[in-house]
Amino acid sequence: MIEIKNLTIQFNRQPPVVEDMSLTVPEGGRTVILGESGSGKSVTLAAILGILPNDAAVRGSIKIGGDEVLGLKERELRKIRGKVIGYIPQGSGNGMNPLMTVGEQVSEPLVEHSGLKKDEALQKAKAWMERLGLAPADKLAKAYPHTLSGGMRQRALMAMGAAGGARILLADEPTKGLDEKRIAEVEKLLRTLDDRTLLCVSHDIRFASRIADTVCVMYGGKTVEVAAAKTFFKKPKHPYSKMLLEALPENGLNCPGGYAPSIDKRFACAFAHRCPQASGKCLEAPKMVRAEQHYVRCHLYGA
Ligand code: SF4
Ligand code: MG
Repeated sequence: MIEIKNLTIQFNRQPPVVEDMSLTVPEGGRTVILGESGSGKSVTLAAILGILPNDAAVRGSIKIGGDEVLGLKERELRKIRGKVIGYIPQGSGNGMNPLMTVGEQVSEPLVEHSGLKKDEALQKAKAWMERLGLAPADKLAKAYPHTLSGGMRQRALMAMGAAGGARILLADEPTKGLDEKRIAEVEKLLRTLDDRTLLCVSHDIRFASRIADTVCVMYGGKTVEVAAAKTFFKKPKHPYSKMLLEALPENGLNCPGGYAPSIDKRFACAFAHRCPQASGKCLEAPKMVRAEQHYVRCHLYGA
């Protein structure tokens, strides 16, 4: 559904913020890109949406449903956004227009992309609102965002992302800044959209463990492990993935140190200065290799 190949993104000739990233997001699945801030996950999402700033230099390929989207003009990208790809912004962010009613906003993508008349679109929008638990939709469609609770606004944002009929939903940190109760709610809503292909970026490992069927871990602008969630959470392979899972409180350890990726040029592996298994080999850049059912970028695996 989404095929990213050798994606490299650079700003102002600085070292790449995303380097040689490849990922295939299967149709109908739920894929979570996990990483801390600065790992390149949000920039990757922006590249898929075609909303990178103008000074970004991008190489590689991003195909959506088989069609290349890198390098498309804004006019062509607009057709894809909303129609093919729905976007769900961060959970805690507002993301809604305070001057438009909820109904107007949820129906907007339907008017724009499905060519429906306003009142038809509103009826469809209301059906979406009901499906996502915004009931009674008749009443709530007339409300302005500030009169809704945070949880309801979140549902409205999801309805906006989904209503245009997009087969692919991209979500940026959908649990960020939310409490446990609302995180559970978001997970439930995402499951409601099960017929779609979902790609989330998140720093929230627990969320990923509950929602993902494929996990892609990024560190220092590179993918370091890609695996089915089932085997990933049972037996992660990359030293960074292991560190992340060991840092969960139920595993009795604390959070790993929050360093930025290595600026020590001697090590070509960005994780080297935090890696308990670093060796002389790691002066050379590790390539992505297959290790059982996982893909791992680490010298501990492969030949
Ligand atoms: Fe650690 Fe070396 Fe693997 Fe990098 S390549 S994660 S430094 S063992
Ligand atoms: Mg981010």
